[in-house]
Amino acid sequence: MTSTVETSLDTLTAELLDRVERSFPSAVERVTHAISYAREAHGEQLRASGEPYFIHPLEVAIILLDLGMDEDSVIAALLHDVIEDTPATRNDLTETFGDTVTTLVEGVSKLKRVKAKSRVDHSDLDEEQAENLRKMVLAMVDDVRVVIIKLADRLHNMRTLGYLPPERQARVARETMDIFAPLANRLGIWQLKWQLEDLAFRYLEPEQYYAIARLVAQQRAQRSTYLEHALAILRSRLDQEGLHYRITGRSKHLYSIYHKMQEKDREFDQIYDLHGIRVIVEQERECYHALGAIHSLWRPIAGEFDDYIALPKDNGYQSLHTAVIALEGRPLEVQIRTEGMHQVAEYGVAAHWRYKEGLNRDLKLEQRLNLLLQARELPEESENALQFATALKGDLFAERVYVFTPKGDIVDLPAGSTPVDFAYLIHSEIGHRCRGAKIDGRLVSLDYQLHTGDQVEIVTAKQGGPSRDWLNPHLNYVATQRARQKIRRWFRAQEREQNIGQGRELLDRELRRLGFDQEAYAEIAALFGFDSVEDFLEALGYGDISASQIATKIDQASGKSEKLRFQAIPERAVTDIRVKGVGDLYTRMATCCTPVPGDSIIGYITRGKGVTVHRLDCPNVVHMQDRERLVSVSWGEARDRYPVQIEIQGIDRRGLLRDIAAEIADLGINMSSAHVTTHSDNTATVALTVGVEGVSQLSVAMSRLQGIRDVLDVRRQRSG
Ligand code: MN
Repeated sequence: MTSTVETSLDTLTAELLDRVERSFPSAVERVTHAISYAREAHGEQLRASGEPYFIHPLEVAIILLDLGMDEDSVIAALLHDVIEDTPATRNDLTETFGDTVTTLVEGVSKLKRVKAKSRVDHSDLDEEQAENLRKMVLAMVDDVRVVIIKLADRLHNMRTLGYLPPERQARVARETMDIFAPLANRLGIWQLKWQLEDLAFRYLEPEQYYAIARLVAQQRAQRSTYLEHALAILRSRLDQEGLHYRITGRSKHLYSIYHKMQEKDREFDQIYDLHGIRVIVEQERECYHALGAIHSLWRPIAGEFDDYIALPKDNGYQSLHTAVIALEGRPLEVQIRTEGMHQVAEYGVAAHWRYKEGLNRDLKLEQRLNLLLQARELPEESENALQFATALKGDLFAERVYVFTPKGDIVDLPAGSTPVDFAYLIHSEIGHRCRGAKIDGRLVSLDYQLHTGDQVEIVTAKQGGPSRDWLNPHLNYVATQRARQKIRRWFRAQEREQNIGQGRELLDRELRRLGFDQEAYAEIAALFGFDSVEDFLEALGYGDISASQIATKIDQASGKSEKLRFQAIPERAVTDIRVKGVGDLYTRMATCCTPVPGDSIIGYITRGKGVTVHRLDCPNVVHMQDRERLVSVSWGEARDRYPVQIEIQGIDRRGLLRDIAAEIADLGINMSSAHVTTHSDNTATVALTVGVEGVSQLSVAMSRLQGIRDVLDVRRQRSG
């Protein structure tokens, strides 16, 4: 260590202690202790600048003093890198500096670890991811002072960024612009925001930065006489009104000029509010009083007036903004606010600690801060600093958790979410096949509740689906509606798949049995009024439609579709008998005279067997005694009959063919041939040719044949 370095370290230490003595005299001892503790812990560590590392925590502590933060924050700032970068432990810290300081230091270290998981360093960070990271930072901390320390840390790192290699500079500057400056803005800490923005701007757009800086300096010189003159006139006017006020100059920071040029597509000399003025009064009503005085002195420019007192900005900012045509027809921007509003505008959340120590607590200021809290939908009752510090954590992010994907993207989930919720948010398939999860590389159970900052990795199976247990609300496997819906949908789809499979099997079997091509799925589905074959199959599998309806429908549609046409050549056949005066009476042909269509016939009413049809010249009829049981019958109209070959496999037994013939006759179906082949394994094949009216009758006949004792299989022979 050179002596100059020693000197700068000692000078800085002395400056810090001197300021602490003025701000919190009672804290000098603790701060002194923190200084020696941290200095020893960092030992010989060096910064990229080659300076002793300890310069950094000292500078961060001084930034916090500038903001007016409390002694715990200043001490935590001195110690903020010791857990991460030195052998010091949490227990050491708690013993030596107490719980609050330890919590703050740990919070800062935790933010650092969490940020390392994000892909914030990559240049492709989009606005949504940046916003998620900002939310995550706020959700991570139990105490808003952690974020303020972190911002001060970043500010000092930005001030010394020049010592890092250029590509590191660009990344850190990008991150500052995307994450930290917006965070400072969110907390309303203008003093940090503008410095962070200008430093980041300098590294991101150096040419623009230096060009604007030069122009601003030139203009300031030109404007100063003019401003002095205008201010003199304004002061005398405000004095006349009896107002208590102070006036400060106000320079836009470089980045905001650049931003305005970009946004409004203007040249530098078209931005006329580079150096406005600010009038600070005591009471809110004096703001409007002053406004009236200024507007009566100089003509206001239309469209340039904003009342942020009545309508504060989201971060609690309040002020009146106006622009007037002042001397020589030149525009002048004026902001008017109370001291309390000014404190909030400059220091935001930090203003709370700034004025906490003072006895003359500014009630207005408290109201402003409460307003700031309300703007974030936070509870009003922030009685003390601790409550205030934790209020930000309180409600705002309580119901969300922010976690990382393995790639470092941030995912936003409701509190109570599990790895299963995470998996379904990433992709349905990941959800379905989720079998386990790792948090920061450590295996956890699937009902583990995610914490903000966790890095979640899902372990998936190659295939398979969700567990029914995941839908059980008592087991807490899922917290999100999204995951629940996707799981339900999977099970529904699963059932559908099963039903479709069963339906397909049923349809195939029926079509095979009836001897149809299986190409006719769509045609058959259409017969039942389904546009989609799958829907039809599902209904069939589910049982909404029975297989037996298929044959009937095919009959009805027979002829409409080539594919559904019954595959047999019809024969004209007259087998119907009409019994006079009676409807559908059961008839059968007498075996004595076997009438054929065309013969003159007469019916004989048998007991319990319907009507037997004889030829009129049958000797049995001629010699009949019981003449009153004769009824007149006639042949019905000729109808198409389709000759169909049916093959029946059965156990070879006596009477099998007789039973088959009886069943066929009973159905009123004409059997034109029957051939029995017996096999050595004691089975027999019966080949029949029958004439059926259509598929429906064939289907019924085959079912009935199947029901005969010892029949093993019934099928239609396609070749027939
Ligand atoms: Mn640091």
